[in-house]
Order: sequence, then structure tokens, then C-alpha cells
Amino acid sequence: MALKLFNILSRSIQKFAPLDATGKKVGMYCCGPTVYDFAHIGNWRTFVFADLVRRYLEFKGHAVTHVMNITDVEDKIIKRVRETRTSLREFTGKYETAFFADLKTLNCLGPHHTPRATGHIAEIIALIEKLVARGIAYQAADGSVYFSIGKYRGCGCTYGRLLKLNFDELRPDERTRSDEYAKESATDFALWKARVPEDGDVFWPSPWGEGRPGWHIECSAMSMKVLGESFDLHLGGEDLKFPHHEDEIAQSEGATGKPFAKYWLHGAFLLVEGKKMSKSLGNFFTLRDLLAKGFTGREIRYLLLTAHYRETFNFTLEGLQGARAALARIDECIGKLRELAGAPGTAPARPKGQTGPELAETVLGAPTDLVTHFSNALDEDLNISAAWAVVFEWIRELNRRMAENSLSAADALTALAAWDKIDSVLGMGAPAEVEAPAEIAALLEARQAARNARDFKKSDAIRDELKAKGWAIEDTSNGPKLKRI
Ligand SMILES: [Zn+2]
Repeated sequence: MALKLFNILSRSIQKFAPLDATGKKVGMYCCGPTVYDFAHIGNWRTFVFADLVRRYLEFKGHAVTHVMNITDVEDKIIKRVRETRTSLREFTGKYETAFFADLKTLNCLGPHHTPRATGHIAEIIALIEKLVARGIAYQAADGSVYFSIGKYRGCGCTYGRLLKLNFDELRPDERTRSDEYAKESATDFALWKARVPEDGDVFWPSPWGEGRPGWHIECSAMSMKVLGESFDLHLGGEDLKFPHHEDEIAQSEGATGKPFAKYWLHGAFLLVEGKKMSKSLGNFFTLRDLLAKGFTGREIRYLLLTAHYRETFNFTLEGLQGARAALARIDECIGKLRELAGAPGTAPARPKGQTGPELAETVLGAPTDLVTHFSNALDEDLNISAAWAVVFEWIRELNRRMAENSLSAADALTALAAWDKIDSVLGMGAPAEVEAPAEIAALLEARQAARNARDFKKSDAIRDELKAKGWAIEDTSNGPKLKRI
């Protein structure tokens, strides 16, 4: 089946057809983090969604080039640099490092390119020069360079491609902002911001004097530099639809005269405990806050991946408990399959050179199998909840067959290969054996020592202590294993 996606540009479900004539290569850009703080769980929803898109395209046999920018210069960053009396690089470097560590914790594949805005000032200036040369951008009395939406529309271009806009109501708040007075129209936005004393050391020379780039132009310059003037997919959070993404389209198409991204996908909002996240409500979580509560990156990834990306998602701590239970069901089944297959920790090698749904038919023999059903679900605009339903139905069926001893070692191997294949998309991986904290691991060792010494009273006491701390011991043929209760 072909992948269909809801393209915000057309506001309709469309068959995904890459620009590449062979249909293989896909260029994908996702707006990255603004590195002025730790990313919160709402941000992570977007990045896990982007990871799903990339993984699924690869599963379908595409060669994806995944680009994610790092916004390392903008208003909030400059404010914090000033407040903390650090250098720009020192300040943003800390949060950039944290971001990539968090990305790994959530088992997101690293994008192939992660350009920083400050590393692309020359490209940004060149793009603004093009817009000025085409008469779509102008330098105002305050020294800043603005994009003229009026001129852009005058060329027959549409501003408001992702959503319908009422121009009288556009950016009303900006009318009163003193630094925006110089604009010819309230709807115009800054491409280059002239240096002001509050910028401190954060400025670059340009044909329009010292200053720094606006946020929107960064993404146009960096996406087109890596992926070309026209590329396949542009992703981001729903909150970026306007003005950021509208401005990206206007700047890019205004400069090149060519279509910018072919498909636009937005990850919907995330609520926490039913409300918009806010520090004052106590429902504002960074990934680190959730890890400190004892949840794992794997559980958080699972929960973020349970809802369709276009639905507002209510993220709750109870939901994370549910994620733990769901993963335990999967792990238990996969563990039993491995034991039955007689190959702990391994899955059979995939036939060479095979990718995509064909693999399912080769390895699994029948078209009505896990991989095909899973893929059919995701082909429908990445319907992940339907895909999970397929997974849990498969687990139910396997558990039933294992309970009645009607599953052979070969069946188990086949099932493991299927799981391996779909997990290349889900990215759940295996439960980390090292997830138990040092204190818990030490107790397990002490319990083992007591058992070896045949001191069963002590070993039982340790088992109870572990239980009280939320851990169960499972004695397997490969020795004792710890399991979260
Ligand atoms: Zn962007």
C-alpha cells in the first residue's frame, strides 16, 4: 500500500510521492529546538513524531535526509545571555548538549544534519539579499530589514497557505511594539534585526549594518542549503504554523520563485493533566523532570507515540504508568518468544537487500501478518493507534498459542523477526537491563549471595525489601532478573 499523509498545504489526505524521480530519496526538515532552556514534553512530542515519520519512511524503503536546525540566536536567548553574563556559545552549548542527550534518551534517531543558525549567517544574508533584490524586502529607518507581505502578495503570491488569514487581524500585538514602528506595514516581519545595545556582543556585520538574523529566515536558509530550494517534507509543532511556517514559505518562495516544501505536517498540541502546560500550574515537565520521577525514556516515548499526531494529546503521569504496564506486556511476550526460539537476545537475520513490506511476505509467508497489518495502519496518515492495536492483538494471539503449546521454535523465530521489523519504526528496543538503580542491583546481588549460602530467610527478606521498593525478581534459566512492578 502507498503511504498517505494529511498535507496541511492542501488540507487533504494525499498519496506521498517524493520529488525524486526514482521515488527513493526524501528530504525532510523539522524545525528544531531553540536552545535557551531544557526542551519540555510538548517539544518532545514534536521530535518523537518527526522520528516516527523518518523511521517509517525508511521502513518503506526511502533514503531519508533528515535535517533539524538548532536555533542558537534569537530574542529569548539574547535576554538569557545578558542575564547570565555568559557568552552566546557557552550559554547555548549547554542546552544543545542536553537536547541531544534527551533525544537519545527517547531513542530518536539522530538527524543527518543539525545546522546551527550562527553557523549560517552568510547563507541567511545571501537569502535576504535576494529578497531585497526582488523588491520583496526593504531596509527600514531603524536599520532592520523587513519582509513586505504587501509586495509579496502583489507578485501574485499567496501569504496564508497553511491557514486562512485575516490581514486586518494579523499580528495586532506587534503594532504597539516600539522596535516594530519602523515597518511599512504591521504585517511585515523582520529578516535582519539591526543591532541594539541590549544585544551586547551578539551581532554580525551585514550589507545593512551590524545586527542578527530574524528567527524565520534561519529555517528558510538552512533547509534550502541542505535539501535544495524544493524538498519533500516540512514538519514542526502546530504552534509554529503561524507565523513561523507561513513566513518560511513566503521567504523561500519569494526568493526562489519555486515551490518550497511539498508536504507540511504538524504535530498537534500536548496538554498535561488536561491543561495547557504552565509552570504555575505545576504541570510543566521537561524530559529530565519525568526521568527524576522514575520514568524511563522508553516509557515516555511509548506514551508520546500512542496518539495520532494530529490529535491533541493529554499527557498524564497515570498514562506513564499505563505505558509501563503496556511495555511489560510486550517485553514478557518477546522474552517468552526468545526462550522458545532458543536464541536469547537474538533475532534471525533479515534476507539480504530486502526492505519494506516485501520482507514481511518473505519472512512470514502470509500476507495477513503483523508487519503487513502494522504497515497498512501507518500508511493511513500514520495511524499509530491502529498500529498499536495490531501489535497488541498479535501479542494476545501469541500468548494464547504459547499457553496451549502450539507455537514451535520456528514460529517463535518468525514472530521475533516480525517484531524486529516493526520495532525499527516504533523504536521501543529491549528493556534496558541496567535500568535498575545501583541500590536495587546491589540488593539483587545480596539476595543471590544469600541463596548461594542457602540462607533462604535472608534471601526472602531481601526479596520483600525489593518488592517494597517496587521491584520483583524473576528467576529465569539465565539467572535472576529484575522487573518493575
Ligand atoms: Zn523553523
